[in-house]
Amino acid sequence: MRYVSTRDLTGAPGLPFSDILLEGLAADGGLYLPESYPQVSTEQLDAWRTLLAEEGYAALAFEIVSLFIDDIPAEDLRGIVQRAYEPSKFLDPAVVPVTRLEDGLWLAHLSNGPSVAFKDMAMQLLGELFAYELGRRGETITIVGATSGDTGSSAMYALQGKPGVRVFMLSPKGRMTPFQQAQMFSLDDPAIVNIAVDGVFDDCQDIVKALNSDADFKTRHRVGAVNSINWARLLAQVVYYFAAWLQVTDHEPGPVSFAVPSGNFGNIAAGHIARQMGLPIHRLILATNENNVLEEFFRTGVYRVRSGAETLATSSPSMDISKASNFERFVFDLLGRDGEQVRSLFVDSLAEDGSFDLSGTPEFRSQEERFGFVAGQSTHQDRLTEIRRVYEADGVIIDPHTADGVHVARGSGVDGTIIVLETALPVKFAETIVEAIGVVPPRPERFEGIEDLPRRVVDVPNDPAAVREIIEASGP
Ligand SMILES: *Cc1c(COP(=O)(O)O)cnc(C)c1O
Repeated sequence: MRYVSTRDLTGAPGLPFSDILLEGLAADGGLYLPESYPQVSTEQLDAWRTLLAEEGYAALAFEIVSLFIDDIPAEDLRGIVQRAYEPSKFLDPAVVPVTRLEDGLWLAHLSNGPSVAFKDMAMQLLGELFAYELGRRGETITIVGATSGDTGSSAMYALQGKPGVRVFMLSPKGRMTPFQQAQMFSLDDPAIVNIAVDGVFDDCQDIVKALNSDADFKTRHRVGAVNSINWARLLAQVVYYFAAWLQVTDHEPGPVSFAVPSGNFGNIAAGHIARQMGLPIHRLILATNENNVLEEFFRTGVYRVRSGAETLATSSPSMDISKASNFERFVFDLLGRDGEQVRSLFVDSLAEDGSFDLSGTPEFRSQEERFGFVAGQSTHQDRLTEIRRVYEADGVIIDPHTADGVHVARGSGVDGTIIVLETALPVKFAETIVEAIGVVPPRPERFEGIEDLPRRVVDVPNDPAAVREIIEASGP
């Protein structure tokens, strides 16, 4: 299997998996996708149903990722996947269990991993793949990242103790929830450094960009990224669409759709890939909060990135995005994999107008029939209502992001069964839960008392030079 860039104009043969694993963007600024999607037959799905039931999530994950990775020996890859999805690391040994709500919606629980956020599903595999590939090459890597919460803690939990990996994680000082701060700052690993920047999340991101634009620094420290455009993260996420679909269709005979709380379009891009592989997904229901860049596209055909000032801070903060970094992958498929057109939209149109308009194209008008996307959005009040409703009907507490998905699923008018992807545990967003139902969400035992552990964090002013100094001081 070879990988091509969404902006490729040359038609040259693509790169093997191991060559794109440690990269973020392709050299031409595009995103990597496999040159074609492996196809899965009904017989294969039947066999996987048995495999998942008898041997568990990791066994299914190995089968699926093997279709996309042919340059790691099978036995090595099996070990990598088994370590990533070792059941004891998850709050439930099923790894991604599903439950049915009273009104017929299903939840697929993606947030049972080490940092109790769905990002773990991807990061756990990425951490193992990085460690393997760096070991094989005898190389090291320095991850410099920015986080407003979930991504950072998930990356840190996945990369701690991995030989050859150093992590510098920037976060906006005092702006994460107390639980998220405790989760990140209590990690005790000398190769993982928390840096609290006196600024907002965008300032952290600007510092990361500034360091990355210094070619000499970047090469000297082998600076890499684990952001959501990394192909291996998407690949890992494809697996749970299969796992959830197989479990739910044990009980529900009709068409099955997924509702996906969305920000950077990573989660739902994995659903798109599963559907392109032949998994019978009826509709992919995209849910946004008040930051509705993506909802607007699927409603109107216009993709318009927002400014920082236009991006609202909401009660589902992991979906507060101004542009959706993985969206280009879908547009590449939508436009028949025309790299030239993708380049002109994402480079020229976005630079000139901050937007592009596909509303008049046959590709956009036929997208629901061909690709199955529908979309909706929620408000703070909608989320409170859904959290309350699900709690009263089922005794289950859902987090505000999952509530976005539940709200949009209910209003979608889509026939058949809908699986809502649960993307975080409510404990991470206790304030909103208390506002909705007056109950403090329960805390998994492994996080009892983390606020009392020693905090390991360095405070810096909002200045790239200060961060650079810390990285320089800590090694080559
Ligand atoms: C990251 C995240 C999302 C959004 O996922 P994307 O892949 O960016 O679309 C939704 N909910 C939670 C809790 C998240 O952490």
